Amino acid sequence: MKYNFCGNSGLQLPEISLGLWHNFGDVDDFEMATSMILHAFDSGITHFDLANNYGPPPGSAEANFGKVLAKELKGHRDELIISSKAGHLMWNGPYGDGGSRKYIMASIDQSLKRTGLDYFDIFYSHRYDPQTPIEETMQALVDIVRQGKALYVGVSKYPPQQLIKAYEILKSQNVPCLIYQDKYSMLVRNPEIEHMAINKDYGVGFIAFSPLAQGLLTNKYLHGIPETSRAHKSHGFLQESEITQDVIKQVSALNDLALQRGQTLAEMALAWLLHNEQVTSVIIGTSSLNQLKDNLKAKDNANFSAEELMLIEKILK
Ligand code: NDP
Repeated sequence: MKYNFCGNSGLQLPEISLGLWHNFGDVDDFEMATSMILHAFDSGITHFDLANNYGPPPGSAEANFGKVLAKELKGHRDELIISSKAGHLMWNGPYGDGGSRKYIMASIDQSLKRTGLDYFDIFYSHRYDPQTPIEETMQALVDIVRQGKALYVGVSKYPPQQLIKAYEILKSQNVPCLIYQDKYSMLVRNPEIEHMAINKDYGVGFIAFSPLAQGLLTNKYLHGIPETSRAHKSHGFLQESEITQDVIKQVSALNDLALQRGQTLAEMALAWLLHNEQVTSVIIGTSSLNQLKDNLKAKDNANFSAEELMLIEKILK
């Protein structure tokens, strides 16, 4: 595993991290979840990405990760970077969603309890909340660090202007933002427009989520929607309506290129992200050990010729 320094910080993250949004909840197979976490760690994935609401039901991914930690990874805490977040709906009423100090402070305590941890390595504001003053959300993050509940803080899904404001507030309090997390893949290029330049200016790392566009950037949807896929599951976030003929045409052309490179499309799509120097780490999500093993192979060839990069742009245009 290659480890990259996260922005200007002294913290190194593995170029591939494992996310627990899907596949680690109480609706999923706990044995499989355990073996994926352990195989990831054995392969050098030291960073695990959680959030309060991951499951389903919400909270169960943190609880299940906590069980694996307690049973299988005791004694390895100092070799792990564990992240969690608050920002999306977690409990009913006005204090279980958004960016208020009330919500964030209560939520991190709940997350620590569920995972059995004393602290998170990274704690995020999970999304920008236009109804809460950004100063209030950032102050909550600063205080979380001061209270020893997290070592570093990050933000996810902030519009560019608010991102700059967040970085300025955190910097002024000597708790610089460590990392910015956003959706980024061959099919979703938005962070390239402004966010990456802002991160570079402020020395903040960038971590990509949904790097395979929730499975679209694999060969699995080329001939329909398999029953075991995320698009087929009632609790899956990938909607059948997103799997259009146009997307499948692009995916099919990318698949041909991947085969020419001797890779699966999943491997090539991840390699394309690993090849980007602006990307500190890529958070993969997997529903089986085979997927995890396949995705780890992306590291073996993350070099692209100028012709290949041009062809990819042409396909994606
Ligand atoms: P991906 O885009 O990598 O999608 C993962 C899904 O793709 C898997 O569950 C599986 O779906 C399919 N897949 C993965 N590898 C393969 C393979 N080799 N061959 C075939 N199919 C494959 O990532 P996610 O959307 O899961 O996001 C990753 C992580 O990012 C999350 O767990 C979370 O930690 C973070 N995240 C953060 C968000 C935020 O708001 N900050 C939002 C979303 C995610 P299938 O079930 O069909 O097998």
